[in-house]
Amino acid sequence: MKTVSDEVEQEVSTGSLPAWDRVEELARSAHARFRHDDEGAVATYIPVLAEVDPALFGVCVAEVSGAVHEVGETSYEFSVQSISKAFVYALVCEEHGHEVVRERVGVDNTGLAFNSVIAVELNDGHPMNPMVNAGALATTALMPGASFAEQWENVRTGLSRFAGRQLELDGEVYRSESATNARNKAIARLLQSYGRIDLDPLEVVDVYTRQCALRVDARDLAVMGATLADGGVNPVTGERVVSAQVCRDTLAVLASTGMYERSGEWLFEIGLPAKSGVTGGIVAIAPGKGAIGTFSPRLDPAGNSVRGRHATAYLSRALGLNIFASAAQAAATGVPDGVEHSA
Ligand code: GLN
Repeated sequence: MKTVSDEVEQEVSTGSLPAWDRVEELARSAHARFRHDDEGAVATYIPVLAEVDPALFGVCVAEVSGAVHEVGETSYEFSVQSISKAFVYALVCEEHGHEVVRERVGVDNTGLAFNSVIAVELNDGHPMNPMVNAGALATTALMPGASFAEQWENVRTGLSRFAGRQLELDGEVYRSESATNARNKAIARLLQSYGRIDLDPLEVVDVYTRQCALRVDARDLAVMGATLADGGVNPVTGERVVSAQVCRDTLAVLASTGMYERSGEWLFEIGLPAKSGVTGGIVAIAPGKGAIGTFSPRLDPAGNSVRGRHATAYLSRALGLNIFASAAQAAATGVPDGVEHSA
């Protein structure tokens, strides 16, 4: 079937961030406003995560120009966890293309928890989307590499290129999660039974567990997000990591599924594709403009960082990032003389 994408050149929407000083001022104000918010609780389901200091809070805005604004604990490292799913998905799309990945993994919200087994059963063994564990495991299984060691190395170097620096494995988190991730192993076996994973499912879980245990900070998240906002070129290093088409696909998936079962509400309130992880990171992407990376460990019941959510909502509004917001052209500029509006 011929689609519009075969015939029409992709143009991009325009708009830019406010001046550097204004972005800096708003990033500071986002941090100051929410730093005393003590709502929520840190994740404990991977035992070692419970030890984190809940008071940590970092806010970072990375612009597509390469400018980076950092406030608070933006260089405190934590394991990337579910946020890795967004970037591994982009790498896999770059390798296999839009159609193959859509067929194998899917793009629709499950409406169920990120580690749901029922979601797989309800959909005839189809994982549904790459931002829940079933889809993320099926996605990791598609990473290029002749061995599991090579696949893992490709995950690590790929995510490092998004971040613009070499990311390292947190061995303690990796071991802690490996010892307690029976459910992920069950999901991988279930996918194998439905023919959705061709490789050894336990090895796939191992690569996935390592991917989740890569250490990042809030600044890395912002730069990684800004790469997706910049048509696939890391605005700090200038390196092309993925194609512009892959960025578009990835952001569409994030918009519908990046914030767990709260993805609809997040889009409604904040209006940006985003991904969160259980360690308290959030990356929100404003296409063509930049990205916001936040880190604070206290989570709401859906598993999203409370301060991160508030700070991102504030910045989305104040910086004019909501992708659904518009103002009437006539109100801003006045209706030009001689233009007749038909009813
Ligand atoms: N490694 C975690 C898991 O697979 C990631 C979960 C998350 O951040 N939501 O269970």
